[in-house]
Amino acid sequence: MHELSIAQNILEIVQQSLPPEPAPPVKCVRLKIGEMAGVVTDSLEFCFSVLISDTTMGGAKLEIESVPVMANCKTCGNDFRVEDYVFACPSCSSSDLEVLSGRELQVVEVELADEKVEVA
Ligand SMILES: [Zn+2]
Repeated sequence: MHELSIAQNILEIVQQSLPPEPAPPVKCVRLKIGEMAGVVTDSLEFCFSVLISDTTMGGAKLEIESVPVMANCKTCGNDFRVEDYVFACPSCSSSDLEVLSGRELQVVEVELADEKVEVA
C-alpha cells in the first residue's frame, strides 16, 4: 500500500527530528500535502496510527494541510488554480503550463506535549 510507505517515511523524519531521549511525547505532526501528491489522507492517517501504536509516539495525531494545485501559463503568464485536473489556462486555453504547487508532501512541524510522561 502506497500510503503505508509514506507513513513510514513520515515516522522516520519525525523520529530523526526528536530531541534525544527521554523526549516528550509527540502530540501532533503537521503535514502539507499537495492535491496532486496522490495521497489518500484518510488512508495515510490510518496507516500512521497503526505504525505508531507500539512506539513511544502512540496517540500522536496527523494534522494535514491540503495544498491546492497552482499553475503558471507559459503562453500568457497567468497564474491560476487548477481544478478537477483541468490543465488548461482559463484565459488563453493554452496547455503549456508549469505546475507551481500541489505535488508537495512535507513534514512541517512536530508538536511535543508540554509535560513529560514519567516512565516507570
Ligand atoms: Zn494563458
